[in-house]
Amino acid sequence: MEKLIFEKSKPGRKGHFIPKNDVPLTNLKEEIPEKFLRKSPLDFPEVSENEIARHFVRLSHYNYSIDQGLYPLGSCTMKYNPKVNEKTASLDGFANLHPCMDEKNAQGALRLMYELGEALKEITGLQGVSLQPAAGSQGELTGILMFRAYHLDRGDLKRKKILIPDSAHGTNPASASIAGFEIVNIKSNPDGRVNVEDLEKNCGDDVAGFMLTNPNTVGLFEKNIVQIEKLIHGCGGLMYMDGANLNALLGIVRPGDMNFDCVHINLHKTFSTPHGGGGPGAGPVCVSEKLLPYLPVPQIVLNNGTYSLNEENPKSIGKVHSFFGNFGVLVRAYTYIRMHGGKGLYEVSKNAIINANYLFHLLKNEFDVPFNEYCMHEFILSGDKQKEAGASTKDLAKRLLDYGFHAPTVYFPLIVHEAMLIEPTETETKENLEAFAAAMIKIANEIKENPEFVKNSPYNTPVKRVDDALAARQLDISWYSK
Ligand SMILES: *Cc1c(COP(=O)(O)O)cnc(C)c1O
Repeated sequence: MEKLIFEKSKPGRKGHFIPKNDVPLTNLKEEIPEKFLRKSPLDFPEVSENEIARHFVRLSHYNYSIDQGLYPLGSCTMKYNPKVNEKTASLDGFANLHPCMDEKNAQGALRLMYELGEALKEITGLQGVSLQPAAGSQGELTGILMFRAYHLDRGDLKRKKILIPDSAHGTNPASASIAGFEIVNIKSNPDGRVNVEDLEKNCGDDVAGFMLTNPNTVGLFEKNIVQIEKLIHGCGGLMYMDGANLNALLGIVRPGDMNFDCVHINLHKTFSTPHGGGGPGAGPVCVSEKLLPYLPVPQIVLNNGTYSLNEENPKSIGKVHSFFGNFGVLVRAYTYIRMHGGKGLYEVSKNAIINANYLFHLLKNEFDVPFNEYCMHEFILSGDKQKEAGASTKDLAKRLLDYGFHAPTVYFPLIVHEAMLIEPTETETKENLEAFAAAMIKIANEIKENPEFVKNSPYNTPVKRVDDALAARQLDISWYSK
């Protein structure tokens, strides 16, 4: 085997003290087949404790996080995560509870999940819930599998299509396709909303359902939701809401009142939990009465003050995750919801909308604005004008790093050229929003004067401009910059 390279390793250096082995080796040798016994020591890096501590702390400084500054990634809701969440999630009784613990001795954890489910039902205005899905995308798959089960259960075998607007998050068509459906793209209007005529043309007895993000991925509320819902239910389809971004709706509008049959909620967006870089998440689904029989098992039930698990649900689509999903994320969301209360959650959404509109107002004269109207929790700018002047949205995003800000989401949604999807969230101060807007405007001016300079940015980050075409072919993930 080729020897691994550990740049910081020096033979004989140690950062650990392993107690002497007190398991008789003779027994081990009898029980482990000869061919599995190691012949030479493992090739581990040899480093002292302070070297390893410095290495990882240094790496952490190379990173950008929400605890450092504004992180305006649209469609991601990178809000500040209250530290009390970490405290509750690390409480001994939660963090060290074994998932096989019997119900009698896990009443606290079951109560937490039950009450979280009840809160989500209230927030969404729907009748059933499953906390199992471990991500928004898995929530989508769970929901669409329930749509499938619903139609099949009624003997309705013709429904092979899921309708999805062309502005949708890529996970929507991916989930529906994995669930076995054919995807039909629905056009958007010039104002970014669903083209109802195109939707109507595609409605029929072969439609299993419609997946809609509301507010949609350009940050606008679907004004025609009542008409859309009538069309879909009218042709026998079901309504799916991508509720990954519920941050604009809390206490204001409920998916249940808009007659959705299923919605997934990204707890790791709206209800905090650090999730940059793909950390653990949770994408619970809430469903209308029609879909109750198909929810994943087990369901947590409350009888005479005792919580238990109900595995009996003959029409259930089964399990979508081992045990109960990502429990630690559920504890954080529960803490967040209980800490804010109903009124506090309403304030969260109200302030998320105010912050987004204020930032939009600060920027809309400097950039192209594809949809010039009040936004919800996020808004879209286009870097078209800047691209013509010689530097693209990608260059602008890189240059933002020099000013100490994480870039917004870029080139998504696909229906806008040179898109920047900006979501400041409610946790930013007026000063932070103004500082970010000032940096954006400064960069726009730099592009007017010297686009080449912006094209070669960033200059102040540990890793400078990477050649992404080369990186795709010859990936080098060493920890130091060359
Ligand atoms: C984030 C997001 C998703 C996917 O959620 P994951 O937890 O990353 O799987 C789906 N739809 C929308 C609109 C999103 O913003």
